[in-house]
Amino acid sequence: MQKQKRTTSQLSSTCCYCGVGCGVLLNKEKNGSVSLEGDKDHPVNKGALCSKGINLHHTINDKSDRLLYPQMRYSRNMPMQRVNWDEALDRTAAVFKTFIEKYGPDSVAFYASGQCLTEEYYVVNKLIKGFIGSNNIDTNSRLCMSSAVVGYKMAFGEDSVPVCYDDIELADCFYVTGANPAWCHPILWRRVEAHKAANPDVKVIVVDPRVTDTCSIADLHLQLNPGTDVTLNHAIGRVIIENGDIDIDFITNHAEGFEAYSKLVFERTVAEAAVICGVSEADILLAAQYIGNAKGYIAMWTMGLNQSAIGVNKNLSLINLNLITGHIGKPGSGPLSLTGQPNAMGGREVGGLSNLLPAHRDMANPAHREEVARFWGGTAINPNPGLTATEMFEALNDGRLKAIWIMCTNPITSMPNARLVEEALKKAKFVVVQEISNKPETLAFADVILPAAAWAEKEGTMTNSERRISYLNKLIDPPGEALADAEIICRFARKLGYKGFDYENPAAIYAEHVKLTAKTNIDISGLSYGVLKERKTVQWPYKKKNAGAGTPRLFTDKKFYTPTQKAKIHAVADTLTSELPDNDFPFILTTGRIRDQWHTMSKTGKVNKLNQHYQQSFLEINPADAGRLGIKEGDVSIITSKRGTVQVKAKISNQIKQGVVFLPMHWGKILGNDLNRANNITSDRVDPISKEPDFKFCAVNVTRFKKP
Ligand code: SF4
Repeated sequence: MQKQKRTTSQLSSTCCYCGVGCGVLLNKEKNGSVSLEGDKDHPVNKGALCSKGINLHHTINDKSDRLLYPQMRYSRNMPMQRVNWDEALDRTAAVFKTFIEKYGPDSVAFYASGQCLTEEYYVVNKLIKGFIGSNNIDTNSRLCMSSAVVGYKMAFGEDSVPVCYDDIELADCFYVTGANPAWCHPILWRRVEAHKAANPDVKVIVVDPRVTDTCSIADLHLQLNPGTDVTLNHAIGRVIIENGDIDIDFITNHAEGFEAYSKLVFERTVAEAAVICGVSEADILLAAQYIGNAKGYIAMWTMGLNQSAIGVNKNLSLINLNLITGHIGKPGSGPLSLTGQPNAMGGREVGGLSNLLPAHRDMANPAHREEVARFWGGTAINPNPGLTATEMFEALNDGRLKAIWIMCTNPITSMPNARLVEEALKKAKFVVVQEISNKPETLAFADVILPAAAWAEKEGTMTNSERRISYLNKLIDPPGEALADAEIICRFARKLGYKGFDYENPAAIYAEHVKLTAKTNIDISGLSYGVLKERKTVQWPYKKKNAGAGTPRLFTDKKFYTPTQKAKIHAVADTLTSELPDNDFPFILTTGRIRDQWHTMSKTGKVNKLNQHYQQSFLEINPADAGRLGIKEGDVSIITSKRGTVQVKAKISNQIKQGVVFLPMHWGKILGNDLNRANNITSDRVDPISKEPDFKFCAVNVTRFKKP
């Protein structure tokens, strides 16, 4: 391989979009601008970058939208005024103190992001749980991976992804369900494509109600009816059992629950399951045969399973297929959840959700709470889980929550039932928005705006989908008075009078986080910024200083983190609790991403090249449905649900099933018009355990727009 030319000003970093975690090399040009290229030495991407990653530098070179100084206002009717950092943080601290004293610690909350660095997650989690005394911290990872977190915990005892990307080249069967990695995790998917191209016997099964680019290499596409994933997985499980392709040694010695599972999956015939799922019986048999015959079997999934009112059951039904076939803890086998965001995993490691404690400790365990509280030296940790993402906005609406601090996310566009979120922020007594850009619509509701540093303007770490921790260098200074997010939170904590937030640098925060992981299952005691700078990236656990590249695979000893050390096979119900279609709202709406945009477009929307792929939002609809409604390609369509309306042009496509329509999730308010926003109409039902919203299923009506 040709050696990559490095200059003295070249620094390594990690792409800050999806959870694949590709390595990049950053160059500071003479004029101060940044250029980048894929890092050929990085084990994840070996130099390759997708359309978003290759254009990442444009998002920081274009500073036209950057927030440059703190701003605040005393009334929502007044314009924002420029203030200095002390004024902004003094006032915010005074307001938070007043609410905490008057209404208790649970009257305030932080809503953060899977794009925050681990150090940022760590300090904000420490502040609210360890000092303010509330567990009201949640992040947009709740909208992304929380069903997978619960699935892993219930099956393995902890939230632990067992596999590594290098298992891809060792597998001979892939079951890709509720995911379109060809668009949303492109560099990882290219590895699957290359592996299949070199080994034509490798089988790829794709499960999706839509025909996506991922299907282009599929040996089998199961175009199931939305919401029927559990039924399908159970039917495949049944056939695997009938075919005798189960791993009896694994089931007997390393797993529990097979009997109940087996009884459950035999309650429904494959023919009955096929009708419910809208696929053929033969295809279910074929999928089971592919999985049953595999030597290495990897299940990949993301939002199609997670973002569901039965997301946990979907996850468990999928993990069951790995467990009954013993495809775990060995090369080329295991479940691999594809993390949507770049550092959702890092957030989970530090306990940055309302029901988690650092290093996978259990909030319900008094000894764990005591251990963390003693380590932090603040207040006792509240035993009750805090508010989750959707619950925060409900609590603002009914007045239980008075103040919310929003970091690095744009809930007005990204949360389900966006009108309710708007109402909530209007009613909130105090809203702080910590942001890099003046674009996100949420800023309109802020009382205080805090300018944050962007990627490449701060240092820290992130963890990708395969437990790989990467170090991100700081290459340039943030513009104006913008500060790194961790610095903002630490300054605020000090304004509240708390000790333990005077870190010299991000390395010191990381070192503290590392200490808290000692003797846990994610132990990274051997890891420091020094090791990360030298190696760039390692996989946890990393218990000793000389642990090389870390731990590529978990459960190789077949010992799981449950009390019995056995994995748990769960016999989960397949009853769908989503909002079902009826006469008034006869279509099922599913939402998702497009290839070249990221979240609510505050970064990717700045890049002209990326805006060429799709220049505006659209409704994907089947030709038969469109014909019946008199809708032609490009006609403006009105999509309504019980919660609101979206109005976008129709894209007529055979790639979607009849009775199902699709909207991309990226667009928000454009020039004051919010009719492109998919979340005007999505449902805010959530999974009862993971509390992840049901973005992939709600009932809508579609009509053709007629000029009055
Ligand atoms: Fe970035 Fe993901 Fe693309 Fe890699 S695959 S370059 S991490 S967006």
